[in-house]
Amino acid sequence: MELDYNTLGLKSGLEIHQQLDSSKLFCNCPSLLRKEEPKFTVKRKLHAVAGESGEIDVAAAHESLAEKEFTYEGYDTICLVELDEEPPHVVNKEALEIALQIALLLNCKIIPITQIMRKTVIDGSNTSGFQRTVLIARDGELEISSGKIGIATLCLEEDAARIIDKEKGIFRLDRLGIPLVEIATKADIKNPQQAKEAALKLGELLRLVKVKRGIGTIRQDVNLSIKGGQRVELKGFQDIRNIERAMEIEVQRQEGLVKQKKSIAEVRAVNSDGSSRFLRPLPGAARMYPETDLPLLKISREKIDKAKKEIQKVSKEELKIEGLSDDMIKLLSNHNKLDEFKEMLSIINNPLLIAKTILIFPKEIASKEKKSLAEVGKTLNRDVLGNVLENVAKGKIDEGNIKHILEKIVKGESYEGVIDNKKEDINFIEERIAKIIKEKPGLSINAYMGLVMKEFKGKISGQEANEIIRKYVK
Ligand SMILES: [Zn+2]
Repeated sequence: MELDYNTLGLKSGLEIHQQLDSSKLFCNCPSLLRKEEPKFTVKRKLHAVAGESGEIDVAAAHESLAEKEFTYEGYDTICLVELDEEPPHVVNKEALEIALQIALLLNCKIIPITQIMRKTVIDGSNTSGFQRTVLIARDGELEISSGKIGIATLCLEEDAARIIDKEKGIFRLDRLGIPLVEIATKADIKNPQQAKEAALKLGELLRLVKVKRGIGTIRQDVNLSIKGGQRVELKGFQDIRNIERAMEIEVQRQEGLVKQKKSIAEVRAVNSDGSSRFLRPLPGAARMYPETDLPLLKISREKIDKAKKEIQKVSKEELKIEGLSDDMIKLLSNHNKLDEFKEMLSIINNPLLIAKTILIFPKEIASKEKKSLAEVGKTLNRDVLGNVLENVAKGKIDEGNIKHILEKIVKGESYEGVIDNKKEDINFIEERIAKIIKEKPGLSINAYMGLVMKEFKGKISGQEANEIIRKYVK
């Protein structure tokens, strides 16, 4: 049975962790996963550390029950920072640049001065007992077919050590410190299909910048809750295609728990068949406290501008994929029309037509009417052009008539009026065509075409005339 996610009040958000392709976040070691046998091992015991609020976090306490000793395996590509025997160096410049580019691609607000934080982790995957994380940007958005999904936060983080043997508590240090961006969407996702689409879209977008590729370089978590239930985090998707199935199963499970008033906030690991198992309680707020070994991270105007330039380059690459010529891209870019162009792509998937509508036609009209392009642009603004293209997409305006309509608009006729007139015109023309055919029966389609086009030249396209004639010729 199909679940009714609206009635169930499903609210869901995604959390994506993507490795960046730079050296490590807090030292200069290469971000390199090694295949050879490790060169050395060290042993450590970790304890739960009280967070800022003085409480030991629930999740941390849960894990510390074991009070385990951990073994760390290292290589010559590991330094004292990974071993927690030397303070962290300042944030890697390149990793920060890549994170800023991602923030801009998601239209996030970048935070100019920000505090690096420690997040308590005592499963042994960090030698220090915490993971460093820094909030870079917030309040962005991601466009999917059903609308916009808000981006709550974008953080830059260090990856954890690799688990070699969970039972014995053995970890490998090669992965520890690899830069990650953590992107958390708002709980705007209303059904599993949207979650999958958002995850795919984020993946596509991340591939536009310098990120690591391949298995294990991107990880998706899904947060969800239904009406009357608690928040559950689903972790460890091996495959994006599993997201829909896993959410469906979890929502059904939650439905049962809510009825029994037994829903609890927890983290669950997803199995390959989409079912999931309890991992630990959901971490509470006491998990974070400031990193005292590092100064505040300042993100200057220059750094943001540099990232913007990089993004423009990326956007151009994207447009090439859409099928525009280099010249057209350059022209759009020179007129600052790249953003507008991309916006219009969501209205109608016809790059060349968009380029003509937002740039070429306005230029031609400006020169014909002896006006400046800026002046014409005031009338033919984004809203007007978007509306015209929307009507083209809906089939209310013929592609061949766009320029004619834009001209009318520039001459002072309202665009709603133009579109409505066009509809009335068509009705009138259709009546007239029917009459012509009735008066002169038995002619060929081509002959009727000749008569109709002679009478309505410029008011109707050949294709439209042809369609109408075919309706009346038996
Ligand atoms: Zn290092």
